[in-house]
Amino acid sequence: MSTSSLSDTRSAELYRRALHVLPGGVNSPVRAMRAIGRDPIFVERASGAELTDVDGNVYVDYVCSWGPLIHGHAHPAIVEAVIGAAALGTSYGAPTAGEVELAEAITARMPSVDMLRMTSSGTEASMSAIRLARAATGHDKLLKFAGAYHGHVDGLLAQAGSGLATQGIPSSPGVPASAAADTVVVPWNDPEAVRRAFAEHELAAVLVEPYPANMGLIPPAPGFLELLRDLCTGYDSLLIFDEVITGFRVAPGGAQELTGVLPDLTVMGKILGGGLPAAAFGGSAALMERIAPAGDVYQAGTLSGNPLAVAAGRATLALLDEQAYMTLSDTTRALADGLREAAGDRPVSVTSTTGLVTVFFAAEAPTDYAGAVACDSEAYGTWCRALLARGVYPPASQFEAWFPSLAHSSEHITRTVEAAAAAFAEAAS
Ligand code: PLP
Repeated sequence: MSTSSLSDTRSAELYRRALHVLPGGVNSPVRAMRAIGRDPIFVERASGAELTDVDGNVYVDYVCSWGPLIHGHAHPAIVEAVIGAAALGTSYGAPTAGEVELAEAITARMPSVDMLRMTSSGTEASMSAIRLARAATGHDKLLKFAGAYHGHVDGLLAQAGSGLATQGIPSSPGVPASAAADTVVVPWNDPEAVRRAFAEHELAAVLVEPYPANMGLIPPAPGFLELLRDLCTGYDSLLIFDEVITGFRVAPGGAQELTGVLPDLTVMGKILGGGLPAAAFGGSAALMERIAPAGDVYQAGTLSGNPLAVAAGRATLALLDEQAYMTLSDTTRALADGLREAAGDRPVSVTSTTGLVTVFFAAEAPTDYAGAVACDSEAYGTWCRALLARGVYPPASQFEAWFPSLAHSSEHITRTVEAAAAAFAEAAS
């Protein structure tokens, strides 16, 4: 595959070796950068908003590990917290004070979460929340939205966004038909399709990214989340917000705080682990006390509540005060406005909310997954390669969000917008 004009001798050599021992040379598909027509970039280190690859190229990073790094890379307070925790032991398989304090910090922020269970990944948290919803309602079926991604849980890979959308995979071989049969998929922002699904199926839950960011960022139409809430209440189904991306990002209490729509269960991850593997699901005490050992719904994990991840999560949340959200909101607006300006009158649209931005190669911003798929992904890829050559590291897929962080300064944004304008000009020529 082609590469841009970057120097990439070491990356190319590592990729060659990686292809022998890792499928596709990577440990998660989008990292391979195939969707933008180039080979992967191997990272050496990162600090603040900047990433340095193994060939010494420096980039302004808008992936930030796909969301956990709201303070940028290697924030000194978070690094210090992790080192301090590691010195006391890396894992005990027993409760700690830190996990109680992290759970208290999370429940203080998330309006609908009184109690939670930690896991090591968002995938596990989604899977466990679904189990709980099924146990609580006695129903099996789930409603999800085309283009939404909730982790690589068997039953949730139908028409999923993120890496599946990037690789053009509608679902995955290896998922039993029986697992997929319980998943009902409807288009995002389509009230009639949702009403029909409720009329036709007994649903345990509606699982929704309240601000979907895995088909690119496509905000909910006015009233859509409220409709989901009303239908779930009316039909005795649970509303599950997947706030793995939006939690602690779009507002301290995530999309549920931003919109005022309260789910029954919330799936969280990314920021709450501060860049280490941690996630959680939570809700009312009445629901969460169904989880073992308080209740009969089994759920467990060797590394759940890992002390290093808990330390990183606590340090991350402690730095997120009111000012931080004002700053992140300003940074996001400057980035989104700057990218819009750089695009000029080209058929490009930019969506954004605090901490999230997507550049769609379509004149009108899409309102659902079909709209996202109709965007000019090839032009997005060409533009991304041109950005990388100019020291800006965007998500290597039209179906992902950019993650501006608190480490992105106005100088980073200016540099990015200049690179974006030059890359648009190059992509068009
Ligand atoms: N839910 C959403 C909204 C996500 O974006 C992701 C991952 O990107 C997940 C769940 C799965 O989380 P993990 O990759 O930690 O398993």
